[in-house]
Amino acid sequence: MPFFRRRPKPPKVDKYMIFATNEALQEWERGLADAGLTQIGTNRQAEGTYEQWNGTDAEKAKAWLRERKIDQELFYVVVQTPDGVWGADIEGLYLEKLRPWQFDPASAETTAEILTLINGVYGIELAATGRADNFIVEVACGRCERTWLDGVRYRDLTLVRCPHCGAANRVDSTNFIVT
Ligand SMILES: [Zn+2]
Repeated sequence: MPFFRRRPKPPKVDKYMIFATNEALQEWERGLADAGLTQIGTNRQAEGTYEQWNGTDAEKAKAWLRERKIDQELFYVVVQTPDGVWGADIEGLYLEKLRPWQFDPASAETTAEILTLINGVYGIELAATGRADNFIVEVACGRCERTWLDGVRYRDLTLVRCPHCGAANRVDSTNFIVT
């Protein structure tokens, strides 16, 4: 039945932001302004769809990404910031790759403590198998004791910088082992 074979497939539905009310739209736009975000566009690749943003501040971008609940596989929200490319997918927040200065733990002034593994074992498994060069943890600054989320190496030392006091912290993840 060639007629049926020629019928076009139903169009692929992309993820749109849909707002029930004008207030909801305004709140979304206010959130973008507060987070210092401007949209670059949406890039559809064979391996997934990338919603791309520019951000003026990594901490604000991370907080905004944590609020985005992605419920679609292979859908990525990506923010280029002055401090790394941060993203969110169905598993949560991620750092695309470590910043070059993070490979110099010897220059640390203090030692940060890892408090929590973010995204459960998913992120650390990617790092353990070499599919990512980092996984996301919550760390506490060795100088001011305040906390933030950052990417660290698997079973290695990583340099992270406290966004609150600016201290360069060494993080030791050798006790986090995926078997
Ligand atoms: Zn600090």
